[in-house]
Amino acid sequence: MQRLLEGNWRYRSDRMTRPNQGAKSRLETATAQHPMAAVLTCSDSRLIMESIFDCGVGNLFVCRIAGNFADDSVVGSLEFAVQELGVRLLLVVGHERCGAITAALNDVRPPGQIERLVAYARPAVELARGRPGELLDNAVRANIELTVQALREAKPVLSSSYDSGSIVIRGAYYHLVSGEIEIMHF
Ligand SMILES: [Zn+2]
Repeated sequence: MQRLLEGNWRYRSDRMTRPNQGAKSRLETATAQHPMAAVLTCSDSRLIMESIFDCGVGNLFVCRIAGNFADDSVVGSLEFAVQELGVRLLLVVGHERCGAITAALNDVRPPGQIERLVAYARPAVELARGRPGELLDNAVRANIELTVQALREAKPVLSSSYDSGSIVIRGAYYHLVSGEIEIMHF
């Protein structure tokens, strides 16, 4: 977490060092990877994890899905990161003005599989409606919270690792303009 936050500080203060991005890093990681964290985040084009955390090849195991929801394939991917790659930190990164959450707020009925994504966002919207403050922002934050909770309770792999204290699962909110990763407390 400390390395991630230091990288984010370099990113948001325009002091990026862009480590581990050359041929040497590709060679070193070609036969084995030891990422320092797994990150579940949104597909949004503005959320480039290796930039936001100023790191490179082999550093992050990233799952991206619009709305950063913990669907079955995402949970499976994170289980792989924990069991096979020995990842000890799972970070859920949601963000300001997320389109998936906005769609659920506006109660749109989109075609195709988009509806499935909107359905994932509805519990967060419901939770946010009872909270004081700006609704979209509250829903984004509630969605991060619910996703973290779902991962902590995902049986049997993530839940047992989390309960025994061998992995940490945290949520973070990304600010689009400042580039700040705000670690959430729950
Ligand atoms: Zn988004």
